[in-house]
Amino acid sequence: RRNKTIDVDDLISSLLNKNISALSRAITIVESEHPKHTAQASAITKACLPKANKSIRIGITGVPGVGKSTFIEAFGHHLSRQGKRIAVLAIDPSSSITKGSILGDKTRMEDLVKNKNVFIRPSASGNSLGGVARKTRESIVLCEAAGFDVVIIETVGVGQSETTVHSMVDFFLLLKLPGAGDELQGIKRGIIEMADAIAINKADGDNLKKAKVAQTDFKNALHLYPNNKSEWQPQVSLCSALNKVGIDAIWQQVLDYVQITSANHYFNEKRHEQNKYWLIQTIESQLKADFFNKPEIKAALKEQLQLLDLNKTTPFAAAEYLLKLKH
Ligand code: GDP
Repeated sequence: RRNKTIDVDDLISSLLNKNISALSRAITIVESEHPKHTAQASAITKACLPKANKSIRIGITGVPGVGKSTFIEAFGHHLSRQGKRIAVLAIDPSSSITKGSILGDKTRMEDLVKNKNVFIRPSASGNSLGGVARKTRESIVLCEAAGFDVVIIETVGVGQSETTVHSMVDFFLLLKLPGAGDELQGIKRGIIEMADAIAINKADGDNLKKAKVAQTDFKNALHLYPNNKSEWQPQVSLCSALNKVGIDAIWQQVLDYVQITSANHYFNEKRHEQNKYWLIQTIESQLKADFFNKPEIKAALKEQLQLLDLNKTTPFAAAEYLLKLKH
């Protein structure tokens, strides 16, 4: 009879030997919500942790159509030519809500998929952005243990997902379109503040002039914000992912960032902060799930909601009642 534990040990050692299909299977186990995978998943994560932490983690975001996949193709090939191994993970906020996908279609990054130095993993599935994000966090650890030098986390620039990605990467790159000058008025300040670099993509052909205007606008907007502990001045550059122009400059920005923030220790401090954040996040979501999944809570919640409808209780009284039921 085959021993399950030994299978996992084999899987782990293949993964640590940079075997891609082992990495892929390991991620599937770690992502699984099936109780039978829980023990295997923690064995895998535990074995990978000591080998993790070594990559540069880059978040890339932007609206659909801005050129994320075209950019990652060009960026990935550029890094691969320098002998780097690159993992691309996606966080797709749509899949959890609509079951459809903004990012997940298989035709994306067709060319990069064939690159031997590149591992591309489509978005994890899940019921909540938080759940998907937790899986992505674990996947980063696995990719690092499998020897990837750069881990790219891609997401569509809608709502919460940018904040989520920002909380798990070292360097956050925001892709924008030319002619964003008008749009700048309406842009969420928070997102710009998170960016370590903004790249105006499609800065080619007739767009070039508009792109330069946008560059100036964003530079001015960024100057409004004081430098923080990182001592890093966010950069605004132009690129054409399609023509592969400006890609090397953006990689150089990443290298500069790593150099500056390693020297002043911000790089590691930020990772520690992120770890703390994820610890608390994980506890919160686990407690929440444990609570709401209890059959007696489900039933009582239904009752309380009805009472609330009839104005026979208040939200606070109902909450207090339900929270006490737990014990
Ligand atoms: P995503 O939805 O953000 O992943 O965007 P895609 O990478 O799929 O690109 C959307 C469209 O924009 C495609 O038709 C690309 O060929 C085009 N595109 C991407 N980058 C550039 C660029 O640098 N210049 C031009 N002119 N078109 C681009």
